[in-house]
Amino acid sequence: MDTTDASQWSEDRNRNEWGSTSRLLAQVPADKAEVFSSVGHDDNAGILVSGAGALIAAAGITRNPTCPILVDRRRYAGRNRPRGTARFDPAWIESQRALDTAIVLTDSGYVGEGDREALVAILEQTTMAGDNVCAVLPLHISWLAEPGVKLLTGEVNQHQVPVALVLEHATDPLGTQKAVSGLKQLLDQAQVPISLLCTDISGLGAIAHGAAWAAVGVTSALRHLYPANKKGPPPPPVPARHAIVPRLMTFMNAGRIAEGWALARGHEDLDENLWRCWCAECGNRTMDRFATCAELSLAIHNISILEELHQQITGPDSWERAIRDALGCYWWMKDEYRLTWKPPGFMNAWLPRSRH
Ligand SMILES: [Zn+2]
Repeated sequence: MDTTDASQWSEDRNRNEWGSTSRLLAQVPADKAEVFSSVGHDDNAGILVSGAGALIAAAGITRNPTCPILVDRRRYAGRNRPRGTARFDPAWIESQRALDTAIVLTDSGYVGEGDREALVAILEQTTMAGDNVCAVLPLHISWLAEPGVKLLTGEVNQHQVPVALVLEHATDPLGTQKAVSGLKQLLDQAQVPISLLCTDISGLGAIAHGAAWAAVGVTSALRHLYPANKKGPPPPPVPARHAIVPRLMTFMNAGRIAEGWALARGHEDLDENLWRCWCAECGNRTMDRFATCAELSLAIHNISILEELHQQITGPDSWERAIRDALGCYWWMKDEYRLTWKPPGFMNAWLPRSRH
């Protein structure tokens, strides 16, 4: 899809423009929206406030008018989430219009494995919800495999509404070739804008392959949809803080980065540049700081690095090149420091099968 001038976002918000924004949004939790409201300064940025209190939180944020705000109710998460057949709350839709959000996101329930009825219910309700509404589709990961992806593509094209996927997985929904291949197929065959909510670095891959926009969580909990555990207590919140190591293009546990630095700094041929971050927030400090820095500082670093990558990655070729560069750095670190860090699954998942 073509890239257009960022100003079109505010000037022309009709549905047809959504396929060409290629925007990277920072997805922030509603209860910390004010804290994170300064994250993301790129012209092609934006903020997506997420959670039950998102409308109120978004209303309280003062942002640059060129920087869009979106609101996601996140009704699809947690043990008591409704099925996708649940009716949208008209007040939730109308309140987004009153707030003048860049687009209106539906407060969808969850679409489980093979639950076509729930999928269709969300899409049908979206077609009836008026202009500029994007269907949030919280999906079991089987919807990206056959026959799910074919059904999904068919239903999306039939209903002709933009959709934003939320992919459910305990670790990384786009960590397998099967899932990435399904997403590529959907992006290729969909006749409407496709976007991603609650994603991570793979959001850049999706944009490179034609996604309209992607929202990357500033916290681990907002970087994918965790499966609801109906039998026992909810899973513990993800305790670790994760920072992007720029040359590895990986969200990594901050404690692990600090351990790596402690190991490497005694090395006689130390290349310190690998362990320092050049972004404005880090100011060339070593990355062991992520273990103790303020949560906001960590988020600003992560979004800054993503914005820089977003500028560099303009299509599938530059996305694959960025992955190969990061894999090369992993191998180099293994040789140089005997660090046995394993590249994340999404890297090989996004590379074409024939080339490795
Ligand atoms: Zn940094």
